[in-house]
Amino acid sequence: MSLAISRAPMPVNEPVRSYAPNTRERASLQARLQQMSAETIEIPLCIGGKDVRTGKLGRAVMPHRHAHTIAQFHQAGTHEVQQAIDAAVAAQHDWARLPWEARAAVFLKAADLLAGPWRDTLNTATMMGQSKTCHQAEIDSACELIDFLRFNVSFYEQLLREQPRSSSGMWNRVEHRPLEGFVFAVSPFNFTAIAGNLPSSAALCGNTVVWKPASTAVYSAHFIMRLFREAGLPDGVINLVTGSGGEVGDPVLESRHLAGIHFTGSTRVFHQMWRKVGDNIDKYVSYPRLVGETGGKDFILAHRSADADALVAAIVRGAFEYQGQKCSAASRAYIPSNLWPQAKDRLVAAVEGIRMGDVADFSNFMGAVIDANSFRTQANAIEEAKSAADASILVGGGCDDTEGYFVRPTIIQTTNPSYRTMCDELFGPVLTVHVYDENQWSETLDVVDRTSSYALTGAIFAQERYAIEQGLERLRNAAGNFYINDKPTGAVVGQQPFGGGRASGTNDKAGSILNLLRWISPRTIKETFAPPHDYRYPFMG
Ligand code: NAD
Repeated sequence: MSLAISRAPMPVNEPVRSYAPNTRERASLQARLQQMSAETIEIPLCIGGKDVRTGKLGRAVMPHRHAHTIAQFHQAGTHEVQQAIDAAVAAQHDWARLPWEARAAVFLKAADLLAGPWRDTLNTATMMGQSKTCHQAEIDSACELIDFLRFNVSFYEQLLREQPRSSSGMWNRVEHRPLEGFVFAVSPFNFTAIAGNLPSSAALCGNTVVWKPASTAVYSAHFIMRLFREAGLPDGVINLVTGSGGEVGDPVLESRHLAGIHFTGSTRVFHQMWRKVGDNIDKYVSYPRLVGETGGKDFILAHRSADADALVAAIVRGAFEYQGQKCSAASRAYIPSNLWPQAKDRLVAAVEGIRMGDVADFSNFMGAVIDANSFRTQANAIEEAKSAADASILVGGGCDDTEGYFVRPTIIQTTNPSYRTMCDELFGPVLTVHVYDENQWSETLDVVDRTSSYALTGAIFAQERYAIEQGLERLRNAAGNFYINDKPTGAVVGQQPFGGGRASGTNDKAGSILNLLRWISPRTIKETFAPPHDYRYPFMG
């Protein structure tokens, strides 16, 4: 019973630590790195609050040193998936009936634990398992996840306060009920914050969850689960099942209790899941909510009035930080002919100067790509460009997977704005540049809009206000997150709600109240204080 109308604590974005030389935070993180790198752990599933071991083991490695095993993880089969569904369904009654403040307190506590004693552990796990530099880990697994946890509580309170008017003689209320059934959270490898947010945002709203992380990110997922448990998450509210996508996914999508999917990953996988839900539609208790944030082919478009230095800095950061493996990473750029001579030289110099290697060496700007599959995708695209008539390698192009899956930051230059790598998502450190006639700005806006099926992020660089306004208008549907004179990456929770349209997703804006709306099913209650005692209306008199 709640005897108060509580207010959520006012969230502020978690400050980013610098890890500069001679800081305490750097020493502490390096010590934790050393300690965790020396261990190989075993990762069980977590079902109904219990560790479950199946004996069917997968191997988690460091992408930058793939011979180094950091964990053996147990993989679920159909039996464990069913157990996880049963545990989620069984936990729903009690979890949904807790006062909202009690559920919120679990996640606020998790945020505080992560901001404090857990910070080094989750940052280290993300560095080791996903090959992020300390800065990339800090802005993801520490700051962004803390922000998701704190801001979502505040958004949830805002949502609960959303109530209808009442005319005289009645009281209208809306209850923001959780969905009837469980939510299936399926997370990608590239952001620890997304992995933590997909199950926790739905759980905050009173839902219970079966959570399947990417096999290449089980290491950090394991620590997220431990963090939630330490924060007091009750048994069965979030059930962690690791394993192959289809083996876990297919039986989950068959369950009549499936109430929603909270997915982030590739467009291909989301299409598959959507199709299966369609095939199973007669089986479900309710229409499952389908929320998917998917692929991108994010652009940077420069106008002839653009500031060339700002453009070059944005391209380098936007395309190559975290090896181009951010869904928002710039992977196609359109540069006007008047700026190209100076931009080209600066770009080549900057990209040649990028240090890449083991992320435990803090002087590196980049680590390795996630796995052998991604390595092959990048290497193939680079080889293709080397022999293409309408493309060439401007800088980079080196690939070496002897020790880790290393791909040098690469810029392909093409004369063909429809060249394959201007259209297809590679999800790696490969940017394709097309130089256009500076007098063809208007035509180029059409090209940018039409080239790819995706519409996630995009940036325009221009000093002329008319050009900026034209870009905003003509590219209205080309990106869900649009940047003016800034790189297209680095969205901050509570500041730039994130998500895209077209083939990039359902655009349900993670890190905003709009996302939480998908995890509730409102019930409207009308109470009449003095009901009429006669069915006849005055006009009948
Ligand atoms: P992925 O699609 O390969 O995998 C995502 C998740 O789906 C993983 O957990 C995977 O195991 C699971 N999966 C695979 N097949 C499945 C099936 N049949 N049933 C159920 N689950 C299944 O994506 P990834 O390689 O982990 O991540 C990279 C992709 O994610 C890129 O396309 C990127 O653009 C996208 N992404 C998008 C956003 C966004 O906000 N739009 C954010 C991050 C990543």
